[in-house]
Amino acid sequence: MIEDSDKNKIIENELDDICEECKNIDESVTENLILSGYKLCKSCKLSKTLFPL
Ligand SMILES: [Zn+2]
Repeated sequence: MIEDSDKNKIIENELDDICEECKNIDESVTENLILSGYKLCKSCKLSKTLFPL
C-alpha cells in the first residue's frame, strides 16, 4: 500500500502540465506524456518529431 501511494505521488508530479523543454504550462503536456511518453507541449513535440535528437 505504501508503494501505491508513492506511485500516485509521482504521477501527480508528472501531471503538472509543465513542458520539460520550454517550461511552459500547457494542457497538451499531459496529453503527450500519456500518448507518447514525452513530457512536451505540442510545439516542442512537433519540433522533436521534425528534428529528433
Ligand atoms: Zn514546450
